[in-house]
Amino acid sequence: MKAACRQVTRIGKTLGFVPTMGALHEGHLSLVRASKARCDVTAVSIFVNPLQFGPAEDLDKYPRTMERDTALLEQLGADLLFTPAVEEMYPAGAQTYVLVEGLSNKLDGASRPGHFRGVATVVAKLFEIVRPDFAFFGQKDAAQAAVLRKLVNDLDMDVEVVVCPIVRESDGLAMSSRNAYLTSEQRQQALVLYRSLLRVQAAVDHGERDSAKLIEIGKQVIANESGAKLDYFAIVDPDALELVADVSCGALVAVAAYVGATRLIDNILVTASSR
Ligand code: AMP
Repeated sequence: MKAACRQVTRIGKTLGFVPTMGALHEGHLSLVRASKARCDVTAVSIFVNPLQFGPAEDLDKYPRTMERDTALLEQLGADLLFTPAVEEMYPAGAQTYVLVEGLSNKLDGASRPGHFRGVATVVAKLFEIVRPDFAFFGQKDAAQAAVLRKLVNDLDMDVEVVVCPIVRESDGLAMSSRNAYLTSEQRQQALVLYRSLLRVQAAVDHGERDSAKLIEIGKQVIANESGAKLDYFAIVDPDALELVADVSCGALVAVAAYVGATRLIDNILVTASSR
């Protein structure tokens, strides 16, 4: 993979990179399209990274659909596909980890200890293998995007992080590889995440600026769906992930909830137009 990527940049072509854990859906494919639109050559990785899963999480049952993924990427015209084995990425004796302190304990990092250390470590390794000019991530994982922007900035990495919009199903559910876990009843219940965000956006549109009140509105929507159990509902600065008291300057509204055993996340960026 290193040789193939160095060859691309040596001849002066721009290299775009889309890291994924596979089980590809339109959200992933939108990142590949964004890369193809912006870069001469597009590399994709598929690696279910054990380091970002907690001991009680879904590493073993995480969907793996490599043949289908490969066909989709070929169809789309991705140029390079990297699918390392776990032992290649983490040979016995590896002792180095990357931790973006502070940010890694916020939002999903608070609920999933060690998650962002796993993410930052694998992305730093992948960036060193690929050395892309641009790397494409989804706004779906808003906290991850903040952690990775900080990683690249703090370590002076020569890559531009591009964050692309959330791709949704026609009824609003944010696409996720984990949606495959949902029964048809849970699939309906899962819509409550986006509904709670839209309710908050509507309240902002009606002039509400107070984050505490907006959070209450969002939490209430989740509470009304008996099939969902709230993990967090937060209104934060999209870079620092710190709570903001009001949304006048814009904010990230982020929600995480369990539907059955499946943990789902979603978010919107609210902008408060002056009234
Ligand atoms: P994953 O395979 O879940 O690690 O995701 C790989 C990349 O795809 C990450 O940058 C995600 O943020 C992005 N992604 C996942 N779901 C979506 C979605 N519905 N819309 C846009 N990007 C997404």
